[in-house]
Amino acid sequence: MENNNLLNFSLEELGGLISGEKTENYRVKQVFRWLHQKLATDFSEMSDLGKALREDLQKRFVIFYPTIQKIQKSKDGTHKFLFRLHDGHSIEAVYIPEKKRNTVCLSSQVGCALGCTFCLTAQMGFLRNLEPYEIITQLYLIKKELRLPRISNIVFMGMGEPLLNHKNVIQAIKLLVSDFGQGVSSRRITVSTAGVVKNIEPLLTETKVSIALSLNATKDSLRDTIMPINKKYPIQMLIETLQNLPLPKRRRVTIEYVLIKDVNDTLEDAQRLVRLLSKVRAKVNLIPYNENPYISMNAPHLKRIDEFHSYLIEKHITTMIRKQRGLDILGACGQLRVTENQKVGTDS
Ligand code: SAH
Repeated sequence: MENNNLLNFSLEELGGLISGEKTENYRVKQVFRWLHQKLATDFSEMSDLGKALREDLQKRFVIFYPTIQKIQKSKDGTHKFLFRLHDGHSIEAVYIPEKKRNTVCLSSQVGCALGCTFCLTAQMGFLRNLEPYEIITQLYLIKKELRLPRISNIVFMGMGEPLLNHKNVIQAIKLLVSDFGQGVSSRRITVSTAGVVKNIEPLLTETKVSIALSLNATKDSLRDTIMPINKKYPIQMLIETLQNLPLPKRRRVTIEYVLIKDVNDTLEDAQRLVRLLSKVRAKVNLIPYNENPYISMNAPHLKRIDEFHSYLIEKHITTMIRKQRGLDILGACGQLRVTENQKVGTDS
């Protein structure tokens, strides 16, 4: 079904698909604009196209969108969207309004294969990769539904590991940054990874997006336990990869560090973190653990969080504590898990 969904294709690919040598380049751009800028869902909307071309497209292709299954609104303005895909699976995305910007948090897979012990999405297991159109339409549907003129920031921090679906994620990013589409600046797109080392540099080279690494531990013995992918790509390998990244000028990687009470929140952890980052162009995002009914882990007490934070600042590491958004609707980091989706079904 997807191979004839026009939303999957880049501008060049679209050219190849609809041309026949006579379809001029500007026609291809017009079609692309209808799809990715004006967010048309039907060929009949493409009023400036010419009837013959429209009918030809209609015969050969579809414009297929997932559907909105549910929207939950948090008291802080965050919206969590549940989308239903063509095969009955569901995914989530989150809209986070702020004063000077607005951010959409996108999913890259249905479920996740990595099995991080603190993360709710992990409990779904891995179901499948998302197609490019299933990634971009999360944003398109949110934009339409909430009548938003513009989305300034995109983070790939929803369900899934983007770098285990890197081909489709890269294609989606290319569609999102296109001047004939949403025109989002690549700097304002952040791809967060648990550390799939082999795909980090290719992603950066191809898309110039910002990179975030979910580190979450400073010793392999702990990281092996809470993030099993560490056995394949241990901490030292991650750090070396970051040191050697061809980062654009004045750009840094973000190190995400989920603070979990009595797991990774001591001053010794902070000290080790400083040492690890001594040669990396990095800033740190501390994420106090978002608690949920399914995993018995907690956020440290405020005092602990402050001490950890202050220590990093003292050592001249730019450090932010990530604000918790959408907590009341389980829309915060690591809280996306589709209960409607089968698999883990014991939460009645
Ligand atoms: N798989 C990618 C993308 C998911 S991003 C990655 O791991 O980076 C989700 C972010 O939320 C990660 O930084 C993860 O460490 C963090 N996270 C997961 N569960 C969390 C929780 N319960 N509370 C706070 N952060 C959490």
